[in-house]
Amino acid sequence: MQGTVYKSTGSWYTVKSEDADFYECRIKGKFRIKGIKSTNPVAVGDEVVFDLQKIGDETVAVISEIKERKNYIIRKSVNLSKQTHIIATNLDQVFLLITLNNPPTFTSFIDRFLVTAEAYDIPVVLLFNKMDGYDEDEMVEVDYLVQLYRSIGYPCLEIAAKEGTNVGQVKELMLEKTSMFAGHSGVGKSTLVNALEPGLKLKTAEISEQHLQGQHTTTFAEMYDLSFGARIIDTPGIKGFGIVDMEEDEIGDYFPEFFKLKSECKFNNCLHLDEPKCAIKNALENNALAWSRYRSYVQMITGEEENYRTDIYKE
Ligand code: GDP
Ligand code: ZN
Repeated sequence: MQGTVYKSTGSWYTVKSEDADFYECRIKGKFRIKGIKSTNPVAVGDEVVFDLQKIGDETVAVISEIKERKNYIIRKSVNLSKQTHIIATNLDQVFLLITLNNPPTFTSFIDRFLVTAEAYDIPVVLLFNKMDGYDEDEMVEVDYLVQLYRSIGYPCLEIAAKEGTNVGQVKELMLEKTSMFAGHSGVGKSTLVNALEPGLKLKTAEISEQHLQGQHTTTFAEMYDLSFGARIIDTPGIKGFGIVDMEEDEIGDYFPEFFKLKSECKFNNCLHLDEPKCAIKNALENNALAWSRYRSYVQMITGEEENYRTDIYKE
């Protein structure tokens, strides 16, 4: 039989079969997946092959194969063992909720998130939430950001989860897909999920960020079917994607608008910092690229952490 992993506790895996029945499955022996060494060989989102085996008097569902993963997100534990834990696999998209205030979402955070998603090969949709509460200046800033990220190729929606505004459009994007919600605590994730599916309470929202600092949470991801034909993966304790190990010279490739231009740089190993005849620097000077994106890029290269808003008023 084939199915999808909806839940894992470490030793048991809840698998939904193609006939929509749920099975509590085990894995036999050590299951190794090429590519990643992780503490959990099977993760939520995995497509698996399993069969019912008779062990003594008992019939046990046993996973025998994992289908190739489209993508996956991992977490490295903070302790010395640096073990990798696969949080979820086969995501169709991640919705990043953004608010300008209460809490502020800085472009440095958005860009870091997008770069990680590019590296993981996961499409991102940006949801600008709390649109009911912005004044004129803030609306200008949201419009600027929407235009900027749309021009790069990221779908953007302006919503008000609390009032249900444009939640229908979010639903439409979610149809037949597996999605995840991310964003700072307080941006409205639980409010949105509640607007999408009244009554469903995700654990994601219940864990505060402070609580997470440096801590290893033992809760596991879980997949839910929504009544309108969509799936959500709830990832307790995960604000974003965690950190991906990236080489300095690959970061630029995860800024799609930089990647498009880089063949025009004089040096093919150009890092777009101080090199002469750099197409990216050139485009910035001509306002064909956004400085806020470039600042995020430089920060990621230098490893600096600085929160800032857009450069909208400086450009
Ligand atoms: P989470 O931590 O991301 O799950 O955020 P919550 O869903 O708990 O929302 C945090 C606060 O923002 C709550 O007080 C919500 O009522 C409020 N909120 C959520 N969506 C909206 C919205 O569209 N407009 C306004 N004005 N407030 C909202
Ligand atoms: Zn360059």
